Amino acid sequence: MHEFSLAKEIISQVGRIIPVNDLPQIQTIKIHVGEFSNVMPDSLLFAFNSLIEGTILNNVRLELEIVALKVKCNICQQVHPIQTNSFVCPNCNSRELQLFSGSELFIESILMKDN
Ligand SMILES: [Zn+2]
Repeated sequence: MHEFSLAKEIISQVGRIIPVNDLPQIQTIKIHVGEFSNVMPDSLLFAFNSLIEGTILNNVRLELEIVALKVKCNICQQVHPIQTNSFVCPNCNSRELQLFSGSELFIESILMKDN
């Protein structure tokens, strides 16, 4: 289950961005998860919550924003949302598509407690 390694990666990235002394001040970590990134949001949340339990990050909330799968057509240059099972341009029926968004997984922001 690769959600555990992803959750570990998120936690270690946060550790690189935020100074150790400020880690207890983190309230929420927002991440963008592409629809096409093969991540099960529930599993990722579960993995994250089990990994932070009893650590300095205990009680940090992980917020996931799901980014829709979109492709850009090389023929008509349009960007369209698309279903994973039909990789065809809805505008011109071309199959020459490139991924525009939907495969990403990154930390979008880290919110600190205000005090
Ligand atoms: Zn097209």
